[in-house]
Amino acid sequence: MYCDLHTHSTASDGTDAPEDLPTLAKQAGLSAIALTDHDTTAGLEAFLDAAKTARIKAVPGIELSADPAILHPDTDPDSEQPPSVGTLHILGYFIQPGAPHLAEVQTQLREARAQRNPQMIARLNELGMDIHYDEVIEAADGHIIGRPHIGQVMMQKGYVKSIHEAFSRYLGGRGEAYVRKDRLSAEQAIQAIRDADGLAVLAHPTQLGLESASQLEHAVARLKTLGLDGIETRHSDHTPRDTESFTRLAKKIGLLTTGGSDYHGSRKTLTLGNPKIPYPVYEDLLEAHRQRIGA
Ligand SMILES: [Zn+2]
Ligand SMILES: [Zn+2]
Repeated sequence: MYCDLHTHSTASDGTDAPEDLPTLAKQAGLSAIALTDHDTTAGLEAFLDAAKTARIKAVPGIELSADPAILHPDTDPDSEQPPSVGTLHILGYFIQPGAPHLAEVQTQLREARAQRNPQMIARLNELGMDIHYDEVIEAADGHIIGRPHIGQVMMQKGYVKSIHEAFSRYLGGRGEAYVRKDRLSAEQAIQAIRDADGLAVLAHPTQLGLESASQLEHAVARLKTLGLDGIETRHSDHTPRDTESFTRLAKKIGLLTTGGSDYHGSRKTLTLGNPKIPYPVYEDLLEAHRQRIGA
C-alpha cells in the first residue's frame, strides 16, 4: 500500500480539478492522498468530498511559500544581488481549511504577489522605461513572476546591459524601482499551519539551495525551534541518496518524515504516486496529528 502526500490541483497551479484527484489517486493504486495547493485551501472542500465517494484516505493540506532569508542568516534580504535560487516551502497537513489565521495569511500572500511586480514596473515607467507587465509575464514563461524576469525584459530592451546591472541600479534593495517584498516569514508560515491545527513539514529540502549538509542541519534545527514537525524526505526531485541523508537528519533532530510526488497534472512530467511512498508514512502523520490535537 502506498500514499502520495504532495499534490496540486487547479486551485493553485495544477491541471486536475481537486474533485478529480481522489479518483486519479485510486487509479494510480494509492490508498491515501494529500492535496497541498500553493498558498490556498480553496480546493480542499471539493477534494475531501470526492475522497469520501472514492473511498480513499485524504489529508487536507497546503504548501506555503516563505521567505528563505532564514536559511542565510548572514545575508541582507534586500541585497542588491539577484536573489539566491533558494526556495522555502512549508507543507501543512491536516489543517482546518477555514482556520482564520490561515485565511488571513492567504489574503496577505495573494495581495503581495498581485501588487509588487506591477508596482516595480510602474516605477520603471516613471523613470522613462517602456516596460509592460505582459512582457514580464512572457519572460517568466509560466514560472512565478519575479524581479529576474523584469530584469530580463529591461535587458532585452537595452535599458541595462545585464541582470546584475538591473538589480544594482533598479531592482535591488537600494534600487530606484525597488518595492519591498511582503513575504511570509518561516515563523509566520509555521505558526499559521499550527494555528489551523496542522503539522508543519519542510518541503523538498533540495530546493533550499543550501550548499552543505551542515548548513541544512542548521536551517532545519532553526525551523524546528519555530515549530516544524517534519521533513519531506521523499520527493520527485530527490535522489535515493538525498532521501537517505534527509531521513538521517530527521531522525537526528527528532522530526517526522513525509513524502510525495509534487504532482501538478499535465503541467509537469511528474506522475501521481511517484516516488512510491509506503502507506505507514501516512499513518505516522495521522498519529502525530492525533497526538497534537489530543484526540
Ligand atoms: Zn514546493
Ligand atoms: Zn508542491
